[in-house]
Amino acid sequence: MKSNTTLFLIGLLFTTPIFCQNNLSKNKKAVIASVENHQKELIELSDQIWAFAETALLENNSSKALADFAEKQGFKVERGVAGLPTAFVATYGSGKPIIGVLGEFDALPGLSQKAQPTKEALVNGAPGHGCGHNMLGVGGLGAAISIKELIESGKLKGTIRFYGTPAEENYSGKAYMGRAGLFNDLDVCLDWHPGDEVEANMQSSQAITDFSISFKGKTAHAAADPWNGRSALDAAELFTTGMNFLREHIKPSVRIHYVYTSAGKVPNVVPDEASVWLWIRDSKRSGVAEVSERMKDIAKGAALMAGVEYSVKLNSGLYELLKNETGEKLLHSNMELIGPITYTEEELAFANQIMKEYKMEAKGLKGEIKPLEATKDDPPGGSTDVGDVSHIVPEISLSVTTAPYLGPWHSWVVVACGGMSIGHKGMLFASKALGTTIVDLFENEKVRNEIKEEFLKRKGDEVYKAMLPDGLPPFPESKK
Ligand SMILES: [Zn+2]
Repeated sequence: MKSNTTLFLIGLLFTTPIFCQNNLSKNKKAVIASVENHQKELIELSDQIWAFAETALLENNSSKALADFAEKQGFKVERGVAGLPTAFVATYGSGKPIIGVLGEFDALPGLSQKAQPTKEALVNGAPGHGCGHNMLGVGGLGAAISIKELIESGKLKGTIRFYGTPAEENYSGKAYMGRAGLFNDLDVCLDWHPGDEVEANMQSSQAITDFSISFKGKTAHAAADPWNGRSALDAAELFTTGMNFLREHIKPSVRIHYVYTSAGKVPNVVPDEASVWLWIRDSKRSGVAEVSERMKDIAKGAALMAGVEYSVKLNSGLYELLKNETGEKLLHSNMELIGPITYTEEELAFANQIMKEYKMEAKGLKGEIKPLEATKDDPPGGSTDVGDVSHIVPEISLSVTTAPYLGPWHSWVVVACGGMSIGHKGMLFASKALGTTIVDLFENEKVRNEIKEEFLKRKGDEVYKAMLPDGLPPFPESKK
């Protein structure tokens, strides 16, 4: 039976973050102090990007704000890398090791929302940060700045690099940066993502390929002389029917989803053009490649049946996340040292009210550090361009709470929380967790080697090749 004193001590251990932080080394304490010194500026920068709310490849103001801030802090900044005007690389220091941190900053269309628990757009119809990327970029930069200060004062030796990575929600920015070789010389790369729990992320993500399939036929009067027409829409329908029959003969881990992007204009004209936008996902890149080949045969068959021409265009593709358990364990140990995120009554009330407004059960906020999970064979649904980076260099991923537990993602709920203290707290935790882990990566060559060994073992003889068409992505038009 435990004595009351033991119970009291155990209680202290689990409730007092200060207790854990006493075990931090001098350099790690300096990381925490740096993030706290810059706290005001980091929050302002995140709120600025939150208000800009710029979508993929149009993030001109957001990218500039981050790059300017990095430059002001003493980083050497290279803008417009990999042919993407909003991508940049900020570097400080020299020589090995070279540690990278990724930072996204794109928003999602139509999700504009004020930082309040009831639904009201900041600007009607405008984009909003429904995936929390306003915090993502700034949180990563906060970590990089803390390391830069340690290099500057001679306490660490090597190079810290912050990557401004645009267009995560669409166009796969990091795949373009990966194809340009920008990550090649890194020893280890780290990233974080806003979420509803605080965890070193042990789960992979799905590989994906994104295709446009187009059919071209001949118009004719649909009643007077349909025999002179060849319907592109017939082909498109035969194609999707074929894809739906294919579902029975592929692995259960595969996901296929599509929309018709063009299907004729009026019923009395045989449609000469039709197109389908199709995504194929699986747990691994190899699985996606296999189904993609069968899809091409189905497109060809559909075109033959309808007597029309066809084309299959690859828009982009992403690798699954290659996990690194050694790296995630290192990150987790630092998260434990920092201790959980705690919330005020007002923040909890905000989170619970917003869930009720969304007509979902209110479950509060999860600030405690989740125990490390085992990596599951099949990842949760969803893909990220961090997957590509993880096939080039070892990658460590963190998730931090910035929104209500089990709340709706890519929604106005995430936008609202990302513009106030719930989001700010998550972002600052991310800077500290990444920063302290990077201290270990600089100081401990043995752990760096172990991370690299695991990476090489998992990768095997696979050679990274970005799944992208030649040239640059189709740049969207900026709204004037
Ligand atoms: Zn995201």
